[in-house]
Amino acid sequence: MKTYSKVLGVETRSSVDLRNITGHVRQVIDESGIKNGIVTIFVPHTTAGIYVNEDESGLKRDVDHVLSKLIPKGAGYLHDEVDDNAHAHLRSIVISPSITIPIIDGRLATGTWQSIFFAEFDGPRRRRLIVHVMGT
Ligand code: ZN
Repeated sequence: MKTYSKVLGVETRSSVDLRNITGHVRQVIDESGIKNGIVTIFVPHTTAGIYVNEDESGLKRDVDHVLSKLIPKGAGYLHDEVDDNAHAHLRSIVISPSITIPIIDGRLATGTWQSIFFAEFDGPRRRRLIVHVMGT
């Protein structure tokens, strides 16, 4: 079994920024030479996350809208007394900082409408993303 890791930079442009990073992940898989295995995409931050879904502009606005409704900014959180971004931490917990996707015959085993998104909840910032490929 082989492993291959790469750290990618992501520049987010607004407080909430949902960025399709599928092409970057595919490029790392190609570089790895691994044809069958898994790829883990991990966000080493406490106010960002990663998810898989459709890249459609209305849906991206819906994701932002629903998360803002579920976890509104400044709703009396204790952490806001420290640095005023509790909503971003809580959204990151709900979305999760990591996903794993199978690689089959050198390709991501995602469905036709599935893309991988980096989800910024406390931007704009310079972020990092770890892409870790394991397999043969
Ligand atoms: Zn904080």
